[in-house]
Amino acid sequence: MMKRFLTCVLALVMVLGLAAGGTPARAATGGKLIALTFDDGPGPYTGRLLDGLKERGVKVTFFMVGTNVKRYPDLVSRAYQEGHQIANHSYDHANLVNLSDSGVADQIASTNALLDLACGTGTSYMVRPPYGSTNSRVRADIAAPLILWSVDPLDWKDRNASTVKSRVVKDAADGAIILLHDIHSTSVDGALAAIDELQEDGYEFVTVKELYRRRGVAMENGTTYGRCKSNGTDLGPVTPPVLTSRSVDGKLEITITAQAGASVYYSLSDAALNGASTLYTGPFTVTPPCTVWAAAAFDMNGSRSETVEQRFTQPVAKAPVIQVSDGVLTLENQTPGTEMYYTLDGTAATVNSARYKGPVSVAPGTVISACAAGGEYLASPASRAAYSDRGQLFRDVFPGDWYYKAVDQAAAEGFMSGKGGERFAPNDALSRAQLVTLLYRYSGEKVTQVERDSCPFRDIKPDGFYRDAVCWAFARGLVKGQGDDIFAPDGQISRQEMCVILAKFLGYRGLELPDGAGVLEQFADADAVASWARKSVQSVVACGLMKGDATGKFSPAAGATRAQGAAILVRVEDVEDALSTVRDELPEDGSQENGAPSSEEAEVGSGATLF
Ligand code: ZN
Repeated sequence: MMKRFLTCVLALVMVLGLAAGGTPARAATGGKLIALTFDDGPGPYTGRLLDGLKERGVKVTFFMVGTNVKRYPDLVSRAYQEGHQIANHSYDHANLVNLSDSGVADQIASTNALLDLACGTGTSYMVRPPYGSTNSRVRADIAAPLILWSVDPLDWKDRNASTVKSRVVKDAADGAIILLHDIHSTSVDGALAAIDELQEDGYEFVTVKELYRRRGVAMENGTTYGRCKSNGTDLGPVTPPVLTSRSVDGKLEITITAQAGASVYYSLSDAALNGASTLYTGPFTVTPPCTVWAAAAFDMNGSRSETVEQRFTQPVAKAPVIQVSDGVLTLENQTPGTEMYYTLDGTAATVNSARYKGPVSVAPGTVISACAAGGEYLASPASRAAYSDRGQLFRDVFPGDWYYKAVDQAAAEGFMSGKGGERFAPNDALSRAQLVTLLYRYSGEKVTQVERDSCPFRDIKPDGFYRDAVCWAFARGLVKGQGDDIFAPDGQISRQEMCVILAKFLGYRGLELPDGAGVLEQFADADAVASWARKSVQSVVACGLMKGDATGKFSPAAGATRAQGAAILVRVEDVEDALSTVRDELPEDGSQENGAPSSEEAEVGSGATLF
């Protein structure tokens, strides 16, 4: 607490002092820039240095040697996370001019790889050649700016903190790059003491990267840099990003803004951002409660803002439950303290939609949407339901779905029921038991007790909804089961199995099916139809009960869905009508190729994927 207080007082003194001198506010942080650099670490004193820098709000640059990066990886991570610039000082402090080209490359690459563990893959690191020793060949070998220095207090030689301090203070100058070594305790103490004095003198400490960026100087690979004199330009420090949020469909949409030219990196799980963190490219959604960490950066390695941490805790309201009874819509509020809003035109409800004040009349064929919001709650997701043409409430079947009319008809006529809560589950698998039940109900017949007693399947439950239907179907030869006495009622039925049962069912109904020879040629996967199903598939396709998909495939082994079952049933109705009509009208030559009903087909099956 005490330290924070001191920092605030210091900042206040600086602002007041400069304001009295009439200096523009920008100069309060932008007048004199200076870069401290620490070589040869990290080491046993680096942690203490980082503590001192943090207290003073100072960012520096570390030129690290690979052998010490290996020894103290946590210090590398810490220095990086605290906004300092991490740079490369060779692997083992070799004099690079004495090495071959590949030797230079190894020294740099092996150290970069170790630094990547803290900074993320793909980070670029400036290089300081050990001893400042370089020549044109070394410069050509290194794909990074080479950083030398303008002030050398010989801290490695004279191990005395006050000597180090006074040399740094004496030679400090705007734009200077100062050479120090954090492997010496005296250098750490001397540097921190010098910082205190120079801050009072109006210096702002920056990384090497920031020193050049703020002065608008582009740095080039293979070029040496020793200082960066003032040129009148100061682009200012990197501004922390700003997070804003709004509720969208029950979630929170986060937008992050940063200053021009800066990138934003963020995370939902980790405060330790680096260059491999998620790059912000546009608004994203989260589910509260959650925390977002974000930083703006021109380069995450030493040219970045402080990491902003923002927690989002506002709860999301629950969506209202839509009920319709005899053409009257009521909404049930699930979140006390919220208002409800609704639409009747198919669009998703928002807080800008009509406010619900009580029951509303709705016409068949209406799509209803509702949401809740208000009080301490974010807007709920929009709930949605269809009050169908035949006056049924569906929560998962809507006008525009290819199976809408078929499901509406099959459900209204009682052949097929929902799965509870007005859900039809159109895309759920159609089981063998469900298909047989569908046909049983459609037939309007009743199973007899004799038929029940002679049903051989031992895997049908006595109280299963499908028991009578399966016994009925077995007695009529429509199903044989999948083994001696196994029916597998819950197994999903394949499209070709469905054809076999349908063909038998239509035959049982007394209809003569077209042979359909050659009709499978239209399908790219005609060969995939099993031999035991071929004749049935041909007939079913020939009379228009089933079709291929948009890519010209029949997909015989694919599983059928409940929506397909509903559509089939409606078509069976049509085909029965059509075939009996054709039979009445045509001469007795068996020509029934064009017997499929085309207009009804279009109405029921338009847009079907697998029909
Ligand atoms: Zn060195």
